[in-house]
Amino acid sequence: MMKRNRRIKYQVFGHYSNWTFACSCCGVTEREFLTIDHVAGDANKTSREFGIPRGGSPLYSWLLKSGLPPGFEVVCMNCNSSKWKHGECVHKKMNRSASDVGQSDSNH
Ligand SMILES: [Zn+2]
Ligand SMILES: [Zn+2]
Repeated sequence: MMKRNRRIKYQVFGHYSNWTFACSCCGVTEREFLTIDHVAGDANKTSREFGIPRGGSPLYSWLLKSGLPPGFEVVCMNCNSSKWKHGECVHKKMNRSASDVGQSDSNH
C-alpha cells in the first residue's frame, strides 16, 4: 500500500512539475512540502461540484485515474497557503514588483 501510494505520488507530482519535483512558484524541492494545487478555483468548490478530492492520496489517485487533466500544479505548502490568503503567493507579488523595475525580460 505504501509503495503504491508513493508510485502514484511520484507520477502525479512528476507530471505537474514537468519532472522537476519543485514548487512552481518558489522552486522548493523538498517533497515533504509539496502539494497539488487547483490552479483555477477553489478546492472545496471543485470537490463539491465535480467530486474531485480536495487533496492528499485520494486526489493523487483521482488525477492518475482521470489521465492527469490540466488545471493543477505543484506548489509547496507555503506558497499554497499564501495564495489562498492573498489571492496570489507573496513570491509572485515580489517578482512582479521586481520585474517592473527592469524592462521586459523575454528570454525564450
Ligand atoms: Zn513554494
Ligand atoms: Zn510562492
